[in-house]
Amino acid sequence: MAITVVGSVAFDSIETPAGRQDRCLGGAATYFSLAASFFTDVRVIAVVGEDFGPAEEAVFNARRIDTRGIERAAGKSFFWEGSYLDNLNEAKTHITDLNVFAAFEPKIPDAYRDSEFLFLANIDPVLQRRVREAMPDVKLVAGDTMNYWIKDHLAALKQVLKGLDVLLINDTEARMLAGNNNLVQAARGVLAMGPKTLVVKHGEYGATAFFSDRSFSGSGEALVSHPFRAPALPLEEVVDPTGAGDSFAGGFFGYLASQSELTPAKFRRAMFYGSVMGSFAVERFGTARLQELTRQEIDERFILFRELTHLD
Ligand code: AMP
Repeated sequence: MAITVVGSVAFDSIETPAGRQDRCLGGAATYFSLAASFFTDVRVIAVVGEDFGPAEEAVFNARRIDTRGIERAAGKSFFWEGSYLDNLNEAKTHITDLNVFAAFEPKIPDAYRDSEFLFLANIDPVLQRRVREAMPDVKLVAGDTMNYWIKDHLAALKQVLKGLDVLLINDTEARMLAGNNNLVQAARGVLAMGPKTLVVKHGEYGATAFFSDRSFSGSGEALVSHPFRAPALPLEEVVDPTGAGDSFAGGFFGYLASQSELTPAKFRRAMFYGSVMGSFAVERFGTARLQELTRQEIDERFILFRELTHLD
């Protein structure tokens, strides 16, 4: 089943303890699509500027990602500059230039209309909401956001949260959104804002899913009252953490979209596939590792993840 994703397609300048890379292809929708494309068909809605050329387009085409919904506009693409010099788990943002995204009016190609899954990747919540409203028939909607939007665009974000089946955010964002430092209480607060299920990402420590009594309603599955945690792989070197969260989301949602039904067991596996994709993304700068990845490597790492926490 196909996923439509709306989110940033960007150029990133990144500095980490491993070095610096200027203007590499990035953006939340880019990482998400590359990761999800190993599991199912992906269709992107975004806008890029005149600096987005054939080399960037080829990255999507190589994974057979549908780019008919990536609009070309006069001007420059979204640009983000950040560093991770003190803390590999949290980016320090230096520059966010929305550029062509500032005046973006998302249009959904007819060929995308039968998508059953919708992912609202990190971007202005006003745009996320417009796309959500234009695709009312999707079966499952998940979304992401970040501190930038939580701080200054909370009212618009709250409208988006009301329509989400699954929200994926990192732990500092969950605490910030709920205004509560205790993760379990913060999760309860976020679930009360609308999402049926919350997935909290902990950077190099994995991710935790929190469920509500609406998480599996309609599927005939029993309520899961306790949280579920997937580990992250302890890696010898993290070259560039950018895109780990979006790649987690791509693996997680891509796996779910490739399954015929959403059960608690499938959900738990999806958390592991998310962690697998996040662990690859950080091994090289930008999208380089995802571009060269194979399905066999994903399957081998999935087994490694099981062994990481298996008791008997
Ligand atoms: P993450 O998975 O959280 O590391 O996401 C990193 C990606 O998010 C980068 O490739 C950036 O281009 C993109 N990004 C950074 N800030 C924003 C923002 N305010 N809105 C949308 N995308 C962003």
